[in-house]
Amino acid sequence: MIRSAPARYTGPMTSSSSTLRVALPVPLPQLFDYAPPPGPAPDPAMTGQRVRVPFGSRELVGVVAGIGQVEDPGSLRAAIEWIDTTPLVTGELWRSLQWLARYTHAPLGEVISTALPGPLRRGEAVPDTHQWGWQLTAAGHDPQPKLRSGTRPQRLAACLAEGVVNEDRLDTLMDDWRSAARSLAKRELVERIALAHSPAVASPASGPAPNAEQAEAIAAITSADGFAAYLLDGVTGSGKTEVYLQAIVACLARGKQALVLVPEIGLTPQTLSRFRNRLGIPVHVLHSGLNDNERARVWAAAARGEAQVIVGTRSAVFTPLPNAGLIVIDEEHDGSYKQQDGIRYHARDFALVRAKALDVAVVLGSATPSLESLHNAHAGRYTHLRLKQRAGAARPPVVRVLDVRKRPLRDGLSPEVLAGITQHLQAGHQVLVFKNRRGYAPVLLCHDCGWTAPCQRCDAPMTVHAGGRRLQCHHCGARQSAPLACPDCGSLALQPQGIGTERLEEHLVEAFPEFPVIRIDRGTTGKRDALETQLASLGDRAGILVGTQILAKGHDLPKLTLVVVVGIDEGLFSADFRASEKLAQQLIQVAGRAGRAVDTGEVWLQTHHPGHPLLETLVNGGYHAFAEAELQQREAAGFPPFAHLALLRAEAQQVEHANAMLSAVRALIPDDAAVERYGPMPAPMPRRAGYQRTQLLLSSPARRPLHGVLDQVTPQISALPQARRVRWSLDVDPMDLY
Ligand code: ADP
Ligand code: ZN
Ligand code: ZN
Repeated sequence: MIRSAPARYTGPMTSSSSTLRVALPVPLPQLFDYAPPPGPAPDPAMTGQRVRVPFGSRELVGVVAGIGQVEDPGSLRAAIEWIDTTPLVTGELWRSLQWLARYTHAPLGEVISTALPGPLRRGEAVPDTHQWGWQLTAAGHDPQPKLRSGTRPQRLAACLAEGVVNEDRLDTLMDDWRSAARSLAKRELVERIALAHSPAVASPASGPAPNAEQAEAIAAITSADGFAAYLLDGVTGSGKTEVYLQAIVACLARGKQALVLVPEIGLTPQTLSRFRNRLGIPVHVLHSGLNDNERARVWAAAARGEAQVIVGTRSAVFTPLPNAGLIVIDEEHDGSYKQQDGIRYHARDFALVRAKALDVAVVLGSATPSLESLHNAHAGRYTHLRLKQRAGAARPPVVRVLDVRKRPLRDGLSPEVLAGITQHLQAGHQVLVFKNRRGYAPVLLCHDCGWTAPCQRCDAPMTVHAGGRRLQCHHCGARQSAPLACPDCGSLALQPQGIGTERLEEHLVEAFPEFPVIRIDRGTTGKRDALETQLASLGDRAGILVGTQILAKGHDLPKLTLVVVVGIDEGLFSADFRASEKLAQQLIQVAGRAGRAVDTGEVWLQTHHPGHPLLETLVNGGYHAFAEAELQQREAAGFPPFAHLALLRAEAQQVEHANAMLSAVRALIPDDAAVERYGPMPAPMPRRAGYQRTQLLLSSPARRPLHGVLDQVTPQISALPQARRVRWSLDVDPMDLY
């Protein structure tokens, strides 16, 4: 009998050859095999090295994730060229990024691309991190006879007469010194030289002597030998930053690098100069206001171990730390640590993973710790360090709940509040009026027929701006001018309903004409330094700040003695399971702005629900009483941190397409998996920017079964025929279910 199938040769393959297994920034789960480009043969030591490859009709920058073998190398495309001669992403960072890809169930190539600064992602060389300076040549030492006085070249030569000056300093001394330098260099009178790395810029300033609680916290953190996690749980103004600084000083003394993460709005020039003064060495900064090249330079300086202290926002968690000693996460509860699109990582959680991999201490600081972190502290995974007193002379603020039921409100403000504001202003103090809603009013309403102005592309009303003249959607950004008459009934009785910061500002300007009123929200702080400039314009004068949570942190405002919180009532009845936690944190944080100096501060909460359990617990028991009660409720309801969630979101032009895709995913999950499935169901905002949105929520009491299911299911999703007309994303540990 003749067998038709060809025999398969299973012995050693003489024709087998090594390939590069490349991670590419494409939304596909697998690695891609390429024949090596001209140059050295594939070697496992090339892992982490960038390589340029053809992909379809494009060229992409990939990173070698391993070396593979194929039997038929002829079928492979060849990589085009090496970008690096040595691996770019190595050691702990490489392993941690692989962990992150597994944890978020995202393609490794996309994770790496998220972690790299733009220029490196695009295949540019690792930038030079030398400091450069200019000095006079021997011939230039006597330039006087040859240079006309008062000209730029003459002034530059005069600057350099004392010796080398570095370029950063020249930038501060002269505009356009570069053209002068070029013309002098042409005549060989000056030259550019690379400076040896000289970290010390000033002698470190000493801080206040730590109080007993601080001293205990500092001792605990600095005694850590290897990985240890600390929850530094201290009321606002208790001196947490002092604790970080001392821990960093100890870390630097051991010759190690420190990484400090701060929320986007916490990274103020004030904070930075405090770090710089106290440490006396360059503090490298990473935030969204930097251009790509600046980011790449900081990344490179950290990778070379030159940057010793790096302070940055969310994405700074990807900084390479070859010589790590300490990681600090300030305001660890802050929502801005969670990336809400692309690779949905949580910088705090990833920082913990890195600290463990680096075997260093990690400090999570907050006045209002997340329930997750408190839970971890209760479970003994974090050492719980408490700072219960404000440092220095400042006393805790006095909190008062103002029942405004049946009280006449004018633009949302009760007569008591207006009287209180008057009193504090007349005493020469500052007042903060906090309202978590920007714009003039949340809704434009027809008084005759009840019509409200909707966004055409979202299931949400448009927010009224510019005193009623403009409408803007805060979800998709759509803008239009307000209609003059109701489109439904033709009535002219269109009224802005509810209160936003603009409306408060308008009212306060009118009520207190002799005092400055400054509104601060995302509408007014477009530019990075705008907040700074606005606060500076107020200075120490008596006046009023009106704003959203942007004002809840950052600057010290020593003249601020009254904080008025208006319109918290919406937040008390939100359906989202984290809404109470967020509201409590916001209230405590904004209350913490009051009375940070000598005068005792007051916080007034204006509400129609003075008996609401959240307010009662918070006011009488403080944040911890609230948090304990909330943790019990979460446990009873099976919500995080007692459950692990993953949310699969789908968006399509037609809702059936989104639902069909999620149903197909749901069907992939084995029935015996210890994972609850909810959905497909409409998202809390079922239509946004013209897309229909649905979601499938997976929940499990333990992490392992949830990830087991995701491991099995996610690689199959992009191959589903139902996924073709759908934009989808997976969010592991979602912050909100939107
Ligand atoms: P937090 O980070 O907890 O808000 P900070 O570290 O910013 O607190 O401290 C609040 C204020 O108290 C700052 O002005 C700081 O200089 C001051 N401060 C901190 N620790 C002490 C201390 N031990 N003695 C005196 N003043 C202190
Ligand atoms: Zn109408
Ligand atoms: Zn919209």
